Amino acid sequence: MLLWDSFFERRIRVKSPSHRADESVAVQLPIQQRARSTQRPCGGCTACCHIMAVEELGKPMYARCQHCAPAGCNIYGAHPPTCSQWQCLWAAGVLDDADRPDRCGLMFEQSIIDGVPVISIHEVIPHALEARQRVAKLIEKIKQFGLRTDEIHEWPYGTRGATAFAADRRNYPNAPSGPVQRIRRGDNWYRMIPARALSA
Ligand code: SF4
Ligand code: SF4
Repeated sequence: MLLWDSFFERRIRVKSPSHRADESVAVQLPIQQRARSTQRPCGGCTACCHIMAVEELGKPMYARCQHCAPAGCNIYGAHPPTCSQWQCLWAAGVLDDADRPDRCGLMFEQSIIDGVPVISIHEVIPHALEARQRVAKLIEKIKQFGLRTDEIHEWPYGTRGATAFAADRRNYPNAPSGPVQRIRRGDNWYRMIPARALSA
């Protein structure tokens, strides 16, 4: 519980991401980079500098940051709070070495959305979420570490802009097939729907 509490406190200090369909997002948080106060150095990974939105820079999700160089953040020290206050669960020491986002193709983060502890999984490599057994094992590791996984949100590669939830009908066969609002129930598992898919 102590562990969870410290994560909770850290997360709620940063802007909560909004996953609502009717908001023009700036979903998410931040980013890291070398030499941040992570428990683990990021090494050769720069996944979050591509995936996450950085409001201060006007950077949307899944768009490489202009300041991201091969050796890391080239404005480190002057990088926005959104970046300096965030880290993925691998950098936080929750996952194993082999699970570094650029290696395993998935980036995990924790946030509090509408008061609900959420684990979000972002594809670093397209279709990495299709390896369902591996995804389940990684979630299990997160649970064993002591973090809550009240909701799990999946972000397919390239998802950005306004999004909506789609309940995972593999896990919840009776869930509605279209975009849904949150279903308050333990261990909910959602997939984000890109805005273009909603309007198609
Ligand atoms: S995704 Fe995680 S490990 Fe990779 S650069 Fe960002 S914080 Fe570091
Ligand atoms: S400013 Fe630096 S840490 Fe932030 S997204 Fe860009 S490269 Fe990454």
